[in-house]
Amino acid sequence: MSLAVVGAELDGVRIGLRAAEGVITELGPSVDARPGDETINGAGCAIVPGLVNGHTHAAMTLFRGFGSDLPLMDWLHAIWPKEAELTDEDVYWGTRLACLEMIRSGTVRFWDMYWRPRAVARAVDDAGLRATVGLPLIDDLDPARGEALRAGALESLDELADAGPRVTASLTPHGTYTVSEPSLEWVAQTAAERSLPVQIHFLEVEDEVTGLRARVNETPSRYLERVGLLGPSTVLAHGVWLSEDDLDLVAARGATLVTNPVSNLKLAVGGIFPYLEARKRGIPVGLGTDGASSNNSLDLLQDVKVFALLQKHAHDDTTVLPAEEALRVATGALAPMLGGAAELRVGAPADFVLVRLDVPELTPGDLVPNLVYAASGSVVDTTVVDGLVLMRGRAVEGEEEVRARARESAIRLGLTR
Ligand SMILES: [Zn+2]
Repeated sequence: MSLAVVGAELDGVRIGLRAAEGVITELGPSVDARPGDETINGAGCAIVPGLVNGHTHAAMTLFRGFGSDLPLMDWLHAIWPKEAELTDEDVYWGTRLACLEMIRSGTVRFWDMYWRPRAVARAVDDAGLRATVGLPLIDDLDPARGEALRAGALESLDELADAGPRVTASLTPHGTYTVSEPSLEWVAQTAAERSLPVQIHFLEVEDEVTGLRARVNETPSRYLERVGLLGPSTVLAHGVWLSEDDLDLVAARGATLVTNPVSNLKLAVGGIFPYLEARKRGIPVGLGTDGASSNNSLDLLQDVKVFALLQKHAHDDTTVLPAEEALRVATGALAPMLGGAAELRVGAPADFVLVRLDVPELTPGDLVPNLVYAASGSVVDTTVVDGLVLMRGRAVEGEEEVRARARESAIRLGLTR
């Protein structure tokens, strides 16, 4: 099946785009639809690369609004007992709700860490998005407990291996303060053997720095390197407490950082992600929302604004992180490991969105600054992933059922009324 988009604007020029087998095959002013193409009339829209959510816990849409405004640790302790009650169906519909929200706000790919990853993968596959998925590993610093969890972790990797072409399996140790050293070493070894990416929370709270100093007398990055986890296949979420020394080592080992500014601000983690210091060293950087219970939305077009403003404010300098660069971070263009199709060109994956140019937020002025500083995800009209149209004219197939089933789960779990 081939797809054609006609009459959309790209960098201010009217163009056509054709895609087949999930790949862009033609792009330019003279490209038109052919007989048999599924055709999208892009008149009045601009075509832009899809966004990549570099860190989230998708099914936590079920927890949206639950425990809001609690201190971080109290919030976690409210959530954990509820998570123990989650079924595959809950996680499936929670993830479908997240996918729905992401499709409606222009996200084409996300990096997920959550329980029952087989249900997550099934939801991703059914929704049509792309995702890197993993089962969180938490042994509460108890190596014996960690050892007992390994068989289940391997089983989930095997299940994810068959989860479809748009799902990538990963290993997801929760963090250095929740996973023992032998377990982290096992994760590093398993990831290397199977050539899988690793996602880990890293330096979201200052206690991680002081905790590691007290426990092993090492800096966080040196510890991560010693257990074998600081490499080019590692995605580090948060990084708001990185020191200069940490940044040097992260840069030297080629790991990717994903900043989650809205979640960090809402949970009052205290630090600000050292974006300029990371980029100065050439560290790949992506943008994430984190879960919908600490954000509380998955709309990257809202978060990219906060990301840019926070950096400007922190440096007392309006020229820091201009709109073009902020949007490139949100599309994954500055973090190849995240797997975004940040450039629209022939041969690239057909992952893109159309945004409506006739909405007030994008009128008048230049598209990119308007997208970053004025728009929200509501300006997205059409979302295409792998050459398949997931939303057209803001309508997503099966939307009502997804909302109803996710709400049923949240009610049954006592998360909402
Ligand atoms: Zn997280």
